[in-house]
Amino acid sequence: MTHPKHSARCSGSGSRIGGTWVSWNGNIQHSYVELVRPKAEEEFCDTVRRIEPPASGGVGNADEASLTGVRAFGNRQSSADIAAGTGVLIDSTTYRGVVSVAEDRMQITVRAGTTLQELMREIEPRGWCLPCLPDIDSVTVAGAIATGTHGTAGDAHPLAEYMVTCRLIQPDGSVREITADDPEMPAVRCSLGLLGVISTVTFQCHPLYYLRVEEQAIPDEVWRRSYREWLARHDFVRIIYLPHTGYAWVILGDRIDPGEPVEEKPAPRRHKYRREVSRALYGRTVAHPRFTRIANRVLRRLFFSGRIVTKGTLYGATVTKSRASTLELAEWTVAQDRFDALFDDLLTGLERTDNNAYAHIPMDIRFLQADGTWLSTAYGHNTVTVGCVTRNPEHAESYRAFDLVEDLFLGYDGRPHWAKRFKAGAQELAPLWPRWDDFVTLRRRLDPAGVFLNPYLAHIFA
Ligand SMILES: Cc1cc2nc3c(=O)[nH]c(=O)nc-3n(C[C@H](O)[C@H](O)[C@H](O)COP(=O)(O)OP(=O)(O)OC[C@H]3O[C@@H](n4cnc5c(N)ncnc54)[C@H](O)[C@@H]3O)c2cc1C
Repeated sequence: MTHPKHSARCSGSGSRIGGTWVSWNGNIQHSYVELVRPKAEEEFCDTVRRIEPPASGGVGNADEASLTGVRAFGNRQSSADIAAGTGVLIDSTTYRGVVSVAEDRMQITVRAGTTLQELMREIEPRGWCLPCLPDIDSVTVAGAIATGTHGTAGDAHPLAEYMVTCRLIQPDGSVREITADDPEMPAVRCSLGLLGVISTVTFQCHPLYYLRVEEQAIPDEVWRRSYREWLARHDFVRIIYLPHTGYAWVILGDRIDPGEPVEEKPAPRRHKYRREVSRALYGRTVAHPRFTRIANRVLRRLFFSGRIVTKGTLYGATVTKSRASTLELAEWTVAQDRFDALFDDLLTGLERTDNNAYAHIPMDIRFLQADGTWLSTAYGHNTVTVGCVTRNPEHAESYRAFDLVEDLFLGYDGRPHWAKRFKAGAQELAPLWPRWDDFVTLRRRLDPAGVFLNPYLAHIFA
Protein backbone atom coordinates (compact mmCIF):
# COMPACT_ATOMS: atom_id res chain seq x y z
CA MET A 1 0.00 0.00 0.00
CA THR A 2 1.57 3.32 -0.98
CA HIS A 3 0.86 6.77 0.35
CA PRO A 4 2.38 10.21 -0.12
CA LYS A 5 5.79 10.31 1.50
CA HIS A 6 6.37 11.89 4.91
CA SER A 7 9.02 11.08 7.44
CA ALA A 8 8.65 7.72 9.15
CA ARG A 9 11.04 8.76 11.88
CA CYS A 10 10.13 10.60 15.00
CA SER A 11 12.24 11.52 17.95
CA GLY A 12 12.09 10.66 21.62
CA SER A 13 11.50 7.41 23.42
CA GLY A 14 7.86 6.39 23.41
CA SER A 15 6.74 9.38 21.31
CA ARG A 16 3.46 8.77 19.51
CA ILE A 17 2.52 10.51 16.27
CA GLY A 18 0.69 9.55 13.13
CA GLY A 19 2.76 9.53 9.97
CA THR A 20 3.98 7.42 7.11
CA TRP A 21 6.39 4.53 7.33
CA VAL A 22 8.78 4.33 4.37
CA SER A 23 11.00 1.38 3.49
CA TRP A 24 14.72 1.99 2.86
CA ASN A 25 14.39 2.47 -0.90
CA GLY A 26 11.03 4.25 -0.78
CA ASN A 27 9.13 1.49 -2.56
CA ILE A 28 6.85 0.55 0.36
CA GLN A 29 4.95 3.18 2.30
CA HIS A 30 2.23 2.83 4.92
CA SER A 31 0.29 5.22 7.10
CA TYR A 32 0.36 4.42 10.80
CA VAL A 33 -1.51 5.71 13.79
CA GLU A 34 1.24 5.39 16.34
CA LEU A 35 4.97 4.78 16.33
CA VAL A 36 6.59 3.48 19.50
CA ARG A 37 10.34 3.60 20.04
CA PRO A 38 11.00 1.38 23.06
CA LYS A 39 14.12 1.46 25.18
CA ALA A 40 13.07 -1.40 27.47
CA GLU A 41 11.40 -4.78 27.04
CA GLU A 42 8.51 -3.62 29.20
CA GLU A 43 7.67 -0.94 26.60
CA PHE A 44 7.35 -3.63 23.92
CA CYS A 45 5.05 -5.58 26.27
CA ASP A 46 2.90 -2.56 27.14
CA THR A 47 2.49 -1.68 23.47
CA VAL A 48 1.44 -5.17 22.42
CA ARG A 49 -0.82 -5.60 25.47
CA ARG A 50 -3.02 -2.64 24.63
CA ILE A 51 -3.63 -3.57 20.95
CA GLU A 52 -7.33 -3.99 20.20
CA PRO A 53 -7.85 -7.32 18.41
CA PRO A 54 -9.39 -6.97 14.92
CA ALA A 55 -13.16 -7.51 14.90
CA SER A 56 -12.73 -10.33 12.36
CA GLY A 57 -11.12 -12.43 15.10
CA GLY A 58 -7.92 -12.93 13.18
CA VAL A 59 -9.29 -14.58 10.08
CA GLY A 60 -7.14 -12.18 8.13
CA ASN A 61 -9.31 -9.31 7.00
CA ALA A 62 -6.67 -7.29 5.15
CA ASP A 63 -8.35 -3.89 5.55
CA GLU A 64 -8.76 -4.40 9.26
CA ALA A 65 -5.14 -5.43 9.63
CA SER A 66 -4.01 -2.10 8.17
CA LEU A 67 -5.89 -0.17 10.88
CA THR A 68 -5.46 -2.47 13.85
CA GLY A 69 -2.62 -4.74 14.76
CA VAL A 70 1.01 -4.12 15.62
CA ARG A 71 4.25 -4.85 13.77
CA ALA A 72 7.87 -4.44 14.84
CA PHE A 73 10.44 -3.37 12.28
CA GLY A 74 14.22 -3.02 12.11
CA ASN A 75 16.24 -1.03 9.60
CA ARG A 76 13.42 -1.21 6.99
CA GLN A 77 15.69 -2.93 4.45
CA SER A 78 13.26 -5.59 3.26
CA SER A 79 11.84 -5.36 -0.26
CA ALA A 80 8.75 -7.41 0.65
CA ASP A 81 5.84 -5.75 2.44
CA ILE A 82 6.48 -7.58 5.70
CA ALA A 83 7.53 -4.95 8.18
CA ALA A 84 4.78 -2.34 8.59
CA GLY A 85 1.17 -1.85 7.49
CA THR A 86 -0.52 -1.84 10.89
CA GLY A 87 -1.94 0.94 13.04
CA VAL A 88 0.79 0.64 15.65
CA LEU A 89 4.45 0.19 14.76
CA ILE A 90 7.35 -0.66 17.04
CA ASP A 91 10.76 0.58 15.95
CA SER A 92 13.16 -2.06 17.28
CA THR A 93 16.25 0.00 16.48
CA THR A 94 15.93 1.97 19.70
CA TYR A 95 16.31 -1.26 21.68
CA ARG A 96 19.89 -2.34 21.02
CA GLY A 97 23.12 -3.51 22.60
CA VAL A 98 24.43 -6.43 24.61
CA VAL A 99 22.37 -7.92 27.45
CA SER A 100 24.84 -10.56 28.61
CA VAL A 101 27.77 -12.73 27.58
CA ALA A 102 28.43 -16.33 28.65
CA GLU A 103 32.17 -16.58 28.02
CA ASP A 104 32.37 -20.29 28.87
CA ARG A 105 29.63 -21.26 26.39
CA MET A 106 30.59 -18.70 23.67
CA GLN A 107 27.08 -17.27 23.80
CA ILE A 108 26.01 -13.65 23.55
CA THR A 109 22.56 -12.19 24.18
CA VAL A 110 21.66 -8.98 22.37
CA ARG A 111 18.59 -6.78 22.07
CA ALA A 112 16.42 -7.03 18.94
CA GLY A 113 17.52 -3.77 17.32
CA THR A 114 21.26 -4.46 17.56
CA THR A 115 22.76 -4.33 14.09
CA LEU A 116 24.89 -7.10 12.70
CA GLN A 117 27.80 -4.64 12.62
CA GLU A 118 27.40 -3.98 16.36
CA LEU A 119 27.15 -7.71 17.04
CA MET A 120 30.31 -8.47 15.08
CA ARG A 121 32.19 -5.72 16.95
CA GLU A 122 31.28 -7.46 20.20
CA ILE A 123 32.14 -11.01 19.24
CA GLU A 124 35.24 -10.75 17.03
CA PRO A 125 37.46 -9.21 19.76
CA ARG A 126 36.44 -12.18 21.95
CA GLY A 127 37.81 -14.54 19.29
CA TRP A 128 34.32 -15.65 18.23
CA CYS A 129 32.41 -15.60 14.96
CA LEU A 130 29.12 -16.53 13.37
CA PRO A 131 30.21 -18.84 10.56
CA CYS A 132 27.74 -17.71 7.89
CA LEU A 133 27.06 -14.00 7.35
CA PRO A 134 24.88 -12.05 4.91
CA ASP A 135 26.44 -9.45 2.65
CA ILE A 136 25.01 -6.58 4.65
CA ASP A 137 25.82 -5.55 8.22
CA SER A 138 23.30 -2.75 8.76
CA VAL A 139 20.37 -5.14 9.30
CA THR A 140 19.06 -5.66 12.81
CA VAL A 141 19.36 -8.98 14.53
CA ALA A 142 15.56 -9.35 14.76
CA GLY A 143 15.02 -8.34 11.12
CA ALA A 144 17.64 -10.83 9.97
CA ILE A 145 16.28 -13.66 12.13
CA ALA A 146 12.66 -13.04 11.17
CA THR A 147 13.33 -13.33 7.43
CA GLY A 148 15.82 -16.19 7.11
CA THR A 149 18.69 -13.85 6.25
CA HIS A 150 21.70 -15.90 5.16
CA GLY A 151 25.18 -15.92 3.65
CA THR A 152 26.93 -18.65 1.71
CA ALA A 153 29.01 -21.80 2.07
CA GLY A 154 31.24 -21.85 5.13
CA ASP A 155 28.93 -23.37 7.69
CA ALA A 156 26.15 -22.34 5.27
CA HIS A 157 23.09 -21.68 7.40
CA PRO A 158 20.85 -18.67 7.86
CA LEU A 159 21.79 -16.56 10.90
CA ALA A 160 18.73 -17.87 12.73
CA GLU A 161 20.29 -21.32 12.94
CA TYR A 162 22.81 -19.90 15.43
CA MET A 163 20.04 -18.56 17.67
CA VAL A 164 19.80 -20.75 20.78
CA THR A 165 17.29 -18.72 22.76
CA CYS A 166 15.01 -15.77 22.19
CA ARG A 167 12.52 -13.81 24.22
CA LEU A 168 9.24 -13.44 22.38
CA ILE A 169 6.44 -11.07 23.31
CA GLN A 170 3.05 -12.75 22.94
CA PRO A 171 -0.19 -11.04 21.84
CA ASP A 172 -1.25 -10.64 25.50
CA GLY A 173 1.97 -8.77 26.28
CA SER A 174 3.58 -11.60 28.24
CA VAL A 175 7.13 -12.72 27.49
CA ARG A 176 7.99 -16.27 26.55
CA GLU A 177 11.52 -17.61 26.40
CA ILE A 178 12.00 -20.05 23.51
CA THR A 179 15.01 -22.34 23.78
CA ALA A 180 16.75 -24.53 21.23
CA ASP A 181 14.96 -27.71 22.39
CA ASP A 182 11.51 -26.08 22.35
CA PRO A 183 9.37 -27.85 19.72
CA GLU A 184 8.32 -24.43 18.40
CA MET A 185 11.87 -23.17 17.85
CA PRO A 186 11.98 -24.44 14.22
CA ALA A 187 8.95 -22.22 13.53
CA VAL A 188 10.23 -19.22 15.49
CA ARG A 189 13.58 -19.26 13.65
CA CYS A 190 11.94 -17.78 10.54
CA SER A 191 8.58 -16.32 11.48
CA LEU A 192 8.33 -12.87 9.85
CA GLY A 193 7.25 -11.45 13.19
CA LEU A 194 4.03 -13.48 13.03
CA LEU A 195 4.59 -15.54 16.18
CA GLY A 196 5.51 -12.65 18.45
CA VAL A 197 7.78 -9.64 18.80
CA ILE A 198 11.40 -10.57 19.39
CA SER A 199 12.90 -8.81 22.38
CA THR A 200 16.31 -10.45 22.76
CA VAL A 201 18.29 -13.11 20.92
CA THR A 202 21.04 -15.38 22.24
CA PHE A 203 23.55 -16.57 19.63
CA GLN A 204 25.81 -19.59 19.83
CA CYS A 205 29.12 -18.32 18.49
CA HIS A 206 31.99 -20.37 17.04
CA PRO A 207 35.75 -19.88 17.23
CA LEU A 208 36.96 -17.05 15.00
CA TYR A 209 38.85 -18.06 11.87
CA TYR A 210 40.73 -16.28 9.12
CA LEU A 211 40.39 -16.67 5.37
CA ARG A 212 42.54 -16.09 2.34
CA VAL A 213 40.01 -14.83 -0.20
CA GLU A 214 40.61 -14.81 -3.94
CA GLU A 215 38.27 -13.19 -6.46
CA GLN A 216 38.35 -13.32 -10.24
CA ALA A 217 36.18 -13.48 -13.35
CA ILE A 218 35.62 -17.01 -14.59
CA PRO A 219 33.79 -17.98 -17.84
CA ASP A 220 30.36 -19.55 -17.47
CA GLU A 221 31.37 -22.93 -18.85
CA VAL A 222 34.18 -23.18 -16.28
CA TRP A 223 32.40 -22.07 -13.10
CA ARG A 224 29.33 -24.15 -13.95
CA ARG A 225 31.53 -27.22 -14.33
CA SER A 226 33.50 -26.49 -11.16
CA TYR A 227 31.21 -25.10 -8.47
CA ARG A 228 30.43 -28.47 -6.84
CA GLU A 229 34.12 -29.23 -6.49
CA TRP A 230 34.70 -25.74 -5.04
CA LEU A 231 31.98 -26.37 -2.48
CA ALA A 232 33.81 -29.50 -1.37
CA ARG A 233 37.26 -27.87 -1.35
CA HIS A 234 36.82 -24.29 -0.16
CA ASP A 235 35.50 -22.76 3.05
CA PHE A 236 33.76 -19.86 1.32
CA VAL A 237 32.12 -19.92 -2.12
CA ARG A 238 30.16 -17.08 -3.66
CA ILE A 239 29.46 -16.70 -7.36
CA ILE A 240 28.45 -13.27 -8.55
CA TYR A 241 26.90 -14.04 -11.89
CA LEU A 242 27.37 -11.24 -14.44
CA PRO A 243 24.39 -11.71 -16.78
CA HIS A 244 24.82 -11.10 -20.51
CA THR A 245 28.62 -11.24 -20.27
CA GLY A 246 29.45 -14.96 -20.27
CA TYR A 247 31.25 -14.61 -16.94
CA ALA A 248 30.81 -14.78 -13.19
CA TRP A 249 32.92 -13.08 -10.54
CA VAL A 250 33.90 -15.97 -8.32
CA ILE A 251 34.91 -15.47 -4.68
CA LEU A 252 36.63 -18.41 -2.98
CA GLY A 253 37.95 -18.43 0.57
CA ASP A 254 40.21 -20.85 2.43
CA ARG A 255 40.86 -20.98 6.13
CA ILE A 256 44.40 -20.05 7.15
CA ASP A 257 46.30 -19.53 10.39
CA PRO A 258 45.96 -15.91 11.53
CA GLY A 259 49.74 -15.45 11.24
CA GLU A 260 50.06 -16.97 7.76
CA PRO A 261 51.37 -14.36 5.33
CA VAL A 262 49.19 -13.64 2.30
CA GLU A 263 50.34 -11.68 -0.71
CA GLU A 264 47.37 -9.36 -0.88
CA LYS A 265 46.25 -7.80 -4.14
CA PRO A 266 43.70 -5.09 -3.41
CA ALA A 267 40.96 -3.94 -5.76
CA PRO A 268 42.11 -1.26 -8.22
CA ARG A 269 41.36 2.32 -7.15
CA ARG A 270 38.77 2.75 -9.89
CA HIS A 271 36.50 0.31 -8.03
CA LYS A 272 35.39 3.10 -5.74
CA TYR A 273 33.48 4.58 -8.70
CA ARG A 274 31.54 1.40 -9.40
CA ARG A 275 28.32 2.64 -7.85
CA GLU A 276 28.29 5.92 -9.76
CA VAL A 277 29.17 4.28 -13.09
CA SER A 278 26.53 1.57 -12.56
CA ARG A 279 23.90 4.15 -11.72
CA ALA A 280 24.72 6.23 -14.79
CA LEU A 281 24.69 3.25 -17.15
CA TYR A 282 21.62 1.54 -15.70
CA GLY A 283 19.69 4.81 -15.68
CA ARG A 284 19.50 4.43 -19.47
CA THR A 285 18.06 0.92 -19.24
CA VAL A 286 14.66 2.14 -18.04
CA ALA A 287 13.84 3.49 -21.49
CA HIS A 288 16.10 1.04 -23.33
CA PRO A 289 16.19 -2.33 -21.51
CA ARG A 290 18.36 -3.85 -24.23
CA PHE A 291 21.12 -1.40 -23.32
CA THR A 292 21.63 -3.59 -20.21
CA ARG A 293 23.75 -5.94 -22.34
CA ILE A 294 26.18 -3.16 -23.19
CA ALA A 295 26.13 -1.74 -19.65
CA ASN A 296 26.97 -5.14 -18.17
CA ARG A 297 29.87 -5.66 -20.56
CA VAL A 298 31.30 -2.24 -19.74
CA LEU A 299 30.92 -2.88 -16.00
CA ARG A 300 32.54 -6.28 -16.30
CA ARG A 301 35.60 -4.88 -18.04
CA LEU A 302 35.94 -2.00 -15.59
CA PHE A 303 35.13 -3.67 -12.30
CA PHE A 304 35.02 -7.44 -12.69
CA SER A 305 38.35 -8.27 -14.30
CA GLY A 306 41.79 -9.07 -12.94
CA ARG A 307 42.32 -10.74 -9.58
CA ILE A 308 41.85 -9.56 -6.00
CA VAL A 309 43.38 -11.32 -3.01
CA THR A 310 42.65 -10.41 0.60
CA LYS A 311 43.03 -11.85 4.06
CA GLY A 312 40.64 -11.41 6.94
CA THR A 313 37.87 -12.85 9.02
CA LEU A 314 34.63 -13.91 7.36
CA TYR A 315 33.16 -10.57 8.43
CA GLY A 316 36.22 -8.52 7.54
CA ALA A 317 36.97 -10.08 4.17
CA THR A 318 33.56 -10.91 2.72
CA VAL A 319 30.81 -8.63 4.07
CA THR A 320 30.07 -5.32 2.32
CA LYS A 321 30.32 -2.49 4.85
CA SER A 322 28.85 0.46 2.96
CA ARG A 323 25.40 0.53 1.41
CA ALA A 324 24.80 4.03 0.12
CA SER A 325 23.03 3.04 -3.07
CA THR A 326 19.49 1.82 -3.28
CA LEU A 327 18.38 -1.28 -5.09
CA GLU A 328 15.30 -3.38 -5.41
CA LEU A 329 16.00 -7.02 -4.75
CA ALA A 330 14.47 -10.38 -5.49
CA GLU A 331 16.00 -13.69 -4.51
CA TRP A 332 14.85 -17.19 -5.31
CA THR A 333 16.19 -20.51 -4.16
CA VAL A 334 16.16 -24.01 -5.57
CA ALA A 335 17.21 -27.47 -4.41
CA GLN A 336 20.87 -27.88 -5.34
CA ASP A 337 20.22 -30.98 -7.44
CA ARG A 338 17.89 -28.97 -9.70
CA PHE A 339 20.11 -25.91 -10.07
CA ASP A 340 21.98 -26.93 -13.25
CA ALA A 341 18.79 -27.51 -15.24
CA LEU A 342 17.24 -24.32 -13.90
CA PHE A 343 20.30 -22.30 -14.80
CA ASP A 344 20.15 -23.58 -18.42
CA ASP A 345 16.60 -22.24 -18.60
CA LEU A 346 17.59 -18.99 -16.91
CA LEU A 347 20.30 -18.35 -19.49
CA THR A 348 17.87 -19.08 -22.31
CA GLY A 349 15.30 -16.69 -20.82
CA LEU A 350 17.81 -13.90 -20.23
CA GLU A 351 19.26 -14.17 -23.72
CA ARG A 352 15.91 -14.05 -25.52
CA THR A 353 15.35 -10.81 -27.36
CA ASP A 354 11.53 -10.79 -27.24
CA ASN A 355 10.88 -10.51 -23.48
CA ASN A 356 12.88 -7.46 -22.36
CA ALA A 357 14.11 -9.55 -19.42
CA TYR A 358 17.59 -8.10 -19.19
CA ALA A 359 19.20 -8.38 -15.78
CA HIS A 360 21.50 -5.92 -14.03
CA ILE A 361 24.72 -6.99 -12.33
CA PRO A 362 24.90 -8.77 -9.91
CA MET A 363 22.95 -12.01 -9.78
CA ASP A 364 24.37 -13.36 -6.57
CA ILE A 365 24.61 -17.16 -6.37
CA ARG A 366 25.08 -18.62 -2.89
CA PHE A 367 24.86 -21.98 -1.19
CA LEU A 368 23.06 -23.21 1.92
CA GLN A 369 22.98 -26.55 3.66
CA ALA A 370 19.65 -28.20 4.42
CA ASP A 371 18.02 -27.18 7.69
CA GLY A 372 14.86 -27.94 9.64
CA THR A 373 13.40 -24.45 10.07
CA TRP A 374 9.82 -24.69 8.86
CA LEU A 375 9.79 -21.61 6.61
CA SER A 376 13.50 -21.60 5.76
CA THR A 377 14.35 -21.51 2.06
CA ALA A 378 16.73 -24.40 2.81
CA TYR A 379 14.15 -26.53 4.65
CA GLY A 380 14.85 -30.18 3.85
CA HIS A 381 17.43 -29.85 1.08
CA ASN A 382 20.78 -28.32 0.19
CA THR A 383 19.91 -25.13 -1.59
CA VAL A 384 21.26 -22.68 -4.15
CA THR A 385 20.09 -19.07 -3.86
CA VAL A 386 20.03 -16.72 -6.86
CA GLY A 387 19.59 -12.98 -6.52
CA CYS A 388 18.13 -10.56 -9.04
CA VAL A 389 18.42 -6.78 -8.67
CA THR A 390 17.55 -3.59 -10.40
CA ARG A 391 19.50 -0.41 -9.79
CA ASN A 392 16.36 1.57 -10.64
CA PRO A 393 14.15 0.67 -7.66
CA GLU A 394 11.48 3.22 -8.58
CA HIS A 395 10.94 1.31 -11.85
CA ALA A 396 10.86 -2.16 -10.31
CA GLU A 397 7.33 -2.84 -11.58
CA SER A 398 8.48 -2.72 -15.18
CA TYR A 399 11.71 -4.69 -14.64
CA ARG A 400 10.92 -7.85 -16.58
CA ALA A 401 13.83 -9.88 -15.17
CA PHE A 402 11.90 -10.15 -11.86
CA ASP A 403 8.97 -11.80 -13.67
CA LEU A 404 11.22 -14.13 -15.65
CA VAL A 405 13.07 -15.28 -12.54
CA GLU A 406 9.90 -15.78 -10.49
CA ASP A 407 8.11 -17.81 -13.19
CA LEU A 408 11.18 -19.91 -13.78
CA PHE A 409 11.88 -20.72 -10.13
CA LEU A 410 8.25 -21.54 -9.40
CA GLY A 411 8.50 -24.08 -12.24
CA TYR A 412 11.34 -25.74 -10.32
CA ASP A 413 9.55 -25.64 -6.94
CA GLY A 414 11.85 -22.76 -5.98
CA ARG A 415 11.18 -20.75 -2.82
CA PRO A 416 11.45 -16.97 -2.51
CA HIS A 417 13.49 -15.11 0.11
CA TRP A 418 10.86 -13.75 2.50
CA ALA A 419 12.43 -10.28 2.71
CA LYS A 420 12.70 -9.77 -1.03
CA ARG A 421 10.32 -8.95 -3.82
CA PHE A 422 7.94 -11.58 -5.23
CA LYS A 423 4.34 -11.76 -6.39
CA ALA A 424 3.37 -15.36 -5.54
CA GLY A 425 0.57 -15.83 -2.99
CA ALA A 426 -0.50 -18.58 -0.61
CA GLN A 427 -1.68 -20.84 -3.42
CA GLU A 428 1.77 -21.02 -5.03
CA LEU A 429 3.78 -20.85 -1.79
CA ALA A 430 1.99 -23.37 0.45
CA PRO A 431 3.00 -26.49 -1.54
CA LEU A 432 6.68 -25.44 -1.47
CA TRP A 433 7.16 -25.89 2.28
CA PRO A 434 6.25 -29.29 3.79
CA ARG A 435 5.59 -27.65 7.21
CA TRP A 436 3.46 -24.80 5.82
CA ASP A 437 0.21 -26.03 7.39
CA ASP A 438 1.94 -26.55 10.73
CA PHE A 439 3.19 -22.97 10.65
CA VAL A 440 -0.25 -21.60 9.77
CA THR A 441 -1.84 -23.66 12.56
CA LEU A 442 0.76 -22.52 15.08
CA ARG A 443 0.31 -18.88 14.03
CA ARG A 444 -3.44 -19.18 14.61
CA ARG A 445 -2.91 -20.79 18.00
CA LEU A 446 -0.38 -18.22 19.22
CA ASP A 447 -2.12 -15.21 17.70
CA PRO A 448 -5.81 -16.14 17.29
CA ALA A 449 -6.91 -12.51 16.96
CA GLY A 450 -4.32 -11.78 14.27
CA VAL A 451 -2.77 -8.77 16.00
CA PHE A 452 0.59 -9.39 14.26
CA LEU A 453 -0.86 -9.54 10.74
CA ASN A 454 -0.53 -6.77 8.18
CA PRO A 455 -2.57 -6.91 4.94
CA TYR A 456 0.25 -8.49 2.92
CA LEU A 457 0.89 -11.23 5.47
CA ALA A 458 -2.84 -11.75 6.05
CA HIS A 459 -3.24 -12.60 2.35
CA ILE A 460 -0.45 -15.18 2.58
CA PHE A 461 -0.84 -16.71 6.03
CA ALA A 462 -4.39 -16.21 7.19
C1 LIG B 1 21.45 -4.12 0.21
C2 LIG B 1 20.85 -5.33 0.84
C3 LIG B 1 21.62 -6.48 0.96
C4 LIG B 1 21.05 -7.63 1.53
N1 LIG B 1 21.83 -8.75 1.64
C5 LIG B 1 21.29 -9.89 2.12
C6 LIG B 1 22.05 -11.08 2.21
O1 LIG B 1 23.25 -11.09 1.91
N2 LIG B 1 21.43 -12.20 2.64
C7 LIG B 1 20.11 -12.22 2.98
O2 LIG B 1 19.58 -13.26 3.32
N3 LIG B 1 19.37 -11.08 2.97
C8 LIG B 1 19.93 -9.94 2.54
N4 LIG B 1 19.18 -8.79 2.51
C9 LIG B 1 17.83 -8.82 3.08
C10 LIG B 1 17.87 -8.37 4.55
O3 LIG B 1 18.73 -9.18 5.29
C11 LIG B 1 16.47 -8.47 5.16
O4 LIG B 1 15.63 -7.60 4.45
C12 LIG B 1 16.43 -8.12 6.64
O5 LIG B 1 15.19 -8.48 7.16
C13 LIG B 1 16.61 -6.63 6.86
O6 LIG B 1 16.71 -6.37 8.24
P1 LIG B 1 16.01 -5.09 8.86
O7 LIG B 1 16.60 -4.85 10.20
O8 LIG B 1 16.08 -3.98 7.88
O9 LIG B 1 14.52 -5.63 9.00
P2 LIG B 1 13.14 -5.01 8.47
O10 LIG B 1 13.19 -4.98 6.98
O11 LIG B 1 12.86 -3.74 9.15
O12 LIG B 1 12.13 -6.12 8.96
C14 LIG B 1 12.18 -7.41 8.39
C15 LIG B 1 11.22 -8.35 9.11
O13 LIG B 1 11.66 -8.52 10.45
C16 LIG B 1 10.56 -8.34 11.33
N5 LIG B 1 11.06 -7.78 12.58
C17 LIG B 1 11.87 -6.73 12.76
N6 LIG B 1 12.06 -6.51 14.09
C18 LIG B 1 11.33 -7.46 14.74
C19 LIG B 1 11.13 -7.77 16.10
N7 LIG B 1 11.69 -7.07 17.09
N8 LIG B 1 10.34 -8.83 16.40
C20 LIG B 1 9.77 -9.57 15.42
N9 LIG B 1 9.93 -9.31 14.11
C21 LIG B 1 10.71 -8.27 13.77
C22 LIG B 1 9.66 -7.35 10.58
O14 LIG B 1 8.35 -7.38 11.05
C23 LIG B 1 9.78 -7.86 9.18
O15 LIG B 1 8.91 -8.94 9.00
C24 LIG B 1 19.71 -7.63 1.97
C25 LIG B 1 18.95 -6.46 1.87
C26 LIG B 1 19.52 -5.31 1.33
C27 LIG B 1 18.70 -4.08 1.23
